[in-house]
Amino acid sequence: MATHPIRVFGDPVLRQPTLDVGVIDDALRQLADDMLETMYAAPGVGLAAPQVGVQRRFFVYDVGDGPGAVVNPRIVGASGEWTYLEGCLSVPDLHWEIVRPARVHLVGVGLDGDEIDIEADDLLGRCFLHEVDHLDGKLLISRLAPDDRKDAMRILRQRALSDGR
Ligand code: ZN
Repeated sequence: MATHPIRVFGDPVLRQPTLDVGVIDDALRQLADDMLETMYAAPGVGLAAPQVGVQRRFFVYDVGDGPGAVVNPRIVGASGEWTYLEGCLSVPDLHWEIVRPARVHLVGVGLDGDEIDIEADDLLGRCFLHEVDHLDGKLLISRLAPDDRKDAMRILRQRALSDGR
């Protein structure tokens, strides 16, 4: 296993919607292992393929109940509303209260080729919504209210300048 550098805000790869995974092969399983290692090292509870520069519809997660991976995930249902302090490994050290559905229904395929069909709430549901956003080319900043989004963009632009990027 090996870790990958995590792409951060400003990298165009984070803004592009991903393509579906065509075949589940050893290369994808290797990528999953590497992404899990990268996620645990960060540390984080979820990591989407674009965050390591791969434009494919795929993410890994572990909210404390053991590792999982979902190929070609789709949100097919969502209900309720929950405000939660959320962060992102691609927007390091910043957190915002973000409103999302409280319950979510996710379908996809596992690395073994079996169908995945999970109804989740709490942190797992939040993680699924956050990672699927990544696969649609969206960062958590796009979920902020307009005023908060302006503040966030100002902070991120200043940070980019001071980093020389
Ligand atoms: Zn993220």
